Amino acid sequence: MILTDKKQPEPTHLQPKFNGVTNILSVDIEDYYQVEGFRRRIDHTAWERYESRFHLGLEWLLQILDSKRVKATFFILGWLAEKYPDWVAEINRRGHEIGVHGWRHRRVDLLSPEEFRRDVEKTMGLLKELGVDNLLGHRAPSFSVTRQSQWAWDIIRDCGLKYDASLSAKFFPAKSEPWTSDNPGPQFTQIGNGEKLSLFPQAYLPVFDHIPFAGGGYFRLYPYWLTRWGIRRWNQKGVPVMVYVHPWEFDPDQPRLKVNLSRSFKHYVNLDMNREKFAHLLQDFQFGPCRDLL
Ligand SMILES: [Zn+2]
Repeated sequence: MILTDKKQPEPTHLQPKFNGVTNILSVDIEDYYQVEGFRRRIDHTAWERYESRFHLGLEWLLQILDSKRVKATFFILGWLAEKYPDWVAEINRRGHEIGVHGWRHRRVDLLSPEEFRRDVEKTMGLLKELGVDNLLGHRAPSFSVTRQSQWAWDIIRDCGLKYDASLSAKFFPAKSEPWTSDNPGPQFTQIGNGEKLSLFPQAYLPVFDHIPFAGGGYFRLYPYWLTRWGIRRWNQKGVPVMVYVHPWEFDPDQPRLKVNLSRSFKHYVNLDMNREKFAHLLQDFQFGPCRDLL
């Protein structure tokens, strides 16, 4: 059940959204069989054998974003972009920002710096070939740029990108870190060669540090009022919140894979009510792509 405050009239998208703060809307384009939680069950060499369905959620998402006049950042997996170039063109044509989500969804902290560089360069090369001429950002699978893999930032900058949207809420608030921030808004850090890189962290609740919200399984699991409260609290302080979703989260009829209970819960919880919940979010808050907050 979605809990909404019935007493207050629903704002329309023509009215100014809460406190005038533009939040960030990001979408990771991957198919349901490519997620990190299923990696041990489905090796990337087996991806070809699965029915592709990402377009079902993506189509719905593109339509609702158009109807609300919202632009978002779509971080695209290179493997999918190569197989379905028309979808890259379609996202681009509608004026959304396109970013890099790696070639085949490997966690950055499991790669060597050289492997990571090849992965980013290969994906960027393909996206440019497909007509994306303003690539600015990178999102690692599963927010996997960790304390041990911060070398990734030098490589991201070297490749010509301006920001990374891969910091896990586990590292925030980030006391005694170079970005020392007490909020999940966009951060700036200086990297090896003295250049600046913008960081867009995964949002955490304004209470109980390090508890992620406003994206993926957290968005589906928490009641809508909690997400709305959290975003409002941050927006009251002038802090934008980064929301992240995946096309498969808007495809409630996707095949159910047999995986262990915790993985199954994480992937399938509340899939059936996610479209409605997400529509409420677009109604209640103002969103834009990462590029607008650089
Ligand atoms: Zn992903």
